[in-house]
Amino acid sequence: DSAPDTLAAGSATNQQSFDRARAILPGGVNSPVRAFGSVGGTPRFYVKASGAYVTDVEGRSYIDLVNSWGPAILGHAHPEVIEAVQQAASRGLGFGASTPAETELAELVRSRISVGGVSPIERLRLVSTGTEATMTAIRLARGATGRRLLVKFAGHYHGHSDGLLAEAGSGLATLSMPGSAGVTAETAAQTLVIEYNNVAALEQVFAEHGHDIAGVIFEAAAANMGVLAPQPGFNETIVRIAHEHGALAISDEVLTGFRVDPAGYWGLDARASATGSRWVPDLFTFGKVIGGGMPLAALGGSARIMELLAPLGPVYQAGTLSGNPVAVAAGLATLRLADDAVYSRLNQVAETLSQETSAALSAEGVEHVVQHAGNLFSFAFSPTEPLNFADVKAQQGYRYAPFFHSMLESGVSLPPSVFEAWFVSAAHDDGVVSKIVEALPAAAKAAAA
Ligand code: PLP
Repeated sequence: DSAPDTLAAGSATNQQSFDRARAILPGGVNSPVRAFGSVGGTPRFYVKASGAYVTDVEGRSYIDLVNSWGPAILGHAHPEVIEAVQQAASRGLGFGASTPAETELAELVRSRISVGGVSPIERLRLVSTGTEATMTAIRLARGATGRRLLVKFAGHYHGHSDGLLAEAGSGLATLSMPGSAGVTAETAAQTLVIEYNNVAALEQVFAEHGHDIAGVIFEAAAANMGVLAPQPGFNETIVRIAHEHGALAISDEVLTGFRVDPAGYWGLDARASATGSRWVPDLFTFGKVIGGGMPLAALGGSARIMELLAPLGPVYQAGTLSGNPVAVAAGLATLRLADDAVYSRLNQVAETLSQETSAALSAEGVEHVVQHAGNLFSFAFSPTEPLNFADVKAQQGYRYAPFFHSMLESGVSLPPSVFEAWFVSAAHDDGVVSKIVEALPAAAKAAAA
């Protein structure tokens, strides 16, 4: 018997697909946000994607503003990326040994993450997910300093390893409670969660625990509580204070890296300042775009720190799939294609969409602010610009679900949460942008209700 082709459009409805998935996958998903929990309704089950569009099992296409949560800067299934992946696959899916292409990708990262010809990426290690990259960066910070505590900011997401799920607790330097069941209190207590964009909180946590802090991890620009850029000079202050106390600064560019600028948010910031970047973190983490949609991520930084990693040093890290040749091929092809024209298109689309969405919301009297960091943007239903997680949570978030569903009905797939960034791609041409803009007035009306 041949099984029904579950990949073919029209083989089932989204609801049937979801029901069937829920009987075997917890919540019907393999990553929670996909379940549409915060917007309600039936998640769309996709069978293919091309350019600016994704197509669901019912055969309906949507303009995609999720873009695989960031990787697809060129749009989906760019022919040259697919060709590179197919060629790599035909040579073997993985060897569990080194390949020349891994070195090429690492060299390309080093040359892109540089300003004025100088790169803070002296060494790079490839892993498979952003979670692994940040987890390893933290282990390195502890290994390098011999210290135990980690500082993170409320509302910053760094993947799902135990120590990083610590949520906003009761404020400054408070030992946080577990943010997830299954995280031991001992592990959670090693993460100090402080308010974002709050220099006094940072100074205080270091004044109280500085001798015991291995590192500070921060999103180069927060984009997992909606987009929330650092206040001018805040990243620089993080690095300075960390260094004054002998701790490491870890800039998480899993989301921003290679998306907001060829050199990530660090590069964007450096170019914006007349003197070039004055903040140089000890470690960077990358994911998403670096793998062009395939499972690939990385951490990098100074040779002094990075060479503490096995096999040279005492900090262990390994991976069967690390540097997988098919994933490396996708990452290399994507980064090579992501030239200045691509970034200028991303910036232009983001500018137009954020302005048009804001205008549509204003026309319906919906109080909101546009949040952006480079070409990443989102909207907070607040009267004033949020500075931190508490501000973001105080917004009229209930307005997002009707807005989201109206857009979906009009054929535009937005992130299914008000706390996520909107991701544009270079495949969003003027025709696609016009279609999104046409859908906005009805969605804004729904948000106003
Ligand atoms: N760090 C940041 C800033 C992220 O946005 C994410 C994922 O969204 C991660 C880390 C975790 O990456 P992954 O989902 O590949 O494990």
